[in-house]
Amino acid sequence: MNIQDFKTADDRQVFYIEDGKHDGGVPLLKFHLFDQLQMVDYGITTRSGGVSEGMYASLNVSYTRGDEKAAVDENYHRTAVSLHADVSDFVLTDQTHTVNIRKVTGKDCGKGILREKDYTDIDGLITDEPGIVLGAFFADCVPLLFIDPQHHAVGVSHSGWRGTVARMGRETIRAMCDAFQSRPQDLYCAVGPSICQSCYEVSEDVAQRFQKEFPDAGDELCMPGAPGKYQLNLWKANEIVLSEAGIIKEHLAVTNICTCCNAKLLFSHRATHGKRGNFGVFIKLR
Ligand SMILES: [Zn+2]
Repeated sequence: MNIQDFKTADDRQVFYIEDGKHDGGVPLLKFHLFDQLQMVDYGITTRSGGVSEGMYASLNVSYTRGDEKAAVDENYHRTAVSLHADVSDFVLTDQTHTVNIRKVTGKDCGKGILREKDYTDIDGLITDEPGIVLGAFFADCVPLLFIDPQHHAVGVSHSGWRGTVARMGRETIRAMCDAFQSRPQDLYCAVGPSICQSCYEVSEDVAQRFQKEFPDAGDELCMPGAPGKYQLNLWKANEIVLSEAGIIKEHLAVTNICTCCNAKLLFSHRATHGKRGNFGVFIKLR
């Protein structure tokens, strides 16, 4: 796979692909912005490089959508190789469209893969301990990734429309400030592949919640579409949330890859009418 296979919304070089297959790993989408920091192993999985079949083909990383456990286990082993980690290093979210964040420590390692999670309703994970792989799951919702190079901390969170209107990005930053004394102006942040405005039709009640929360954003955020419908721009909304929370422009990478426009390459809930797996977003401090 290569980046030219993806349909992008513009010509910005936001991402590149690290093709880890030759090492027994999987391809990962990565941000140029993060690599200059040289302090994390991270990446966004695609549908390529795994062993799942049918609607989960091939690199599904969700245990809760009906895929065979053995296949998902193998998918994690391959993903771990690309992250220079072991599956016992992973800690996974318990996503229910909340804005709850968990501070992860070494005691949590393996939760969600090798052992049961002892927490629920967690849509964001943060840590300052090296070697722990934080993981979250997506198929159109917006992934947010955070790095604090000053305090050596990272975070990942899940921001669908509910999370976005509740400002999940701000909540994750607040959690990092509370836990690690992070300062917003030091943080690097990336908005990952998710559904684009053209593909994301929402009902009027959802549109009104965004118009109320982001009163100055106008049509760029929420454009009238079919009768009674609106086209919602989650990329823009998250950019506003992160900027207002203090992330500086030079530290922010906003995606230009839509999951729904690229449903052969990334899992998309809308494009497949829910018959799909999840791709994963993973980050680990070196
Ligand atoms: Zn699209």
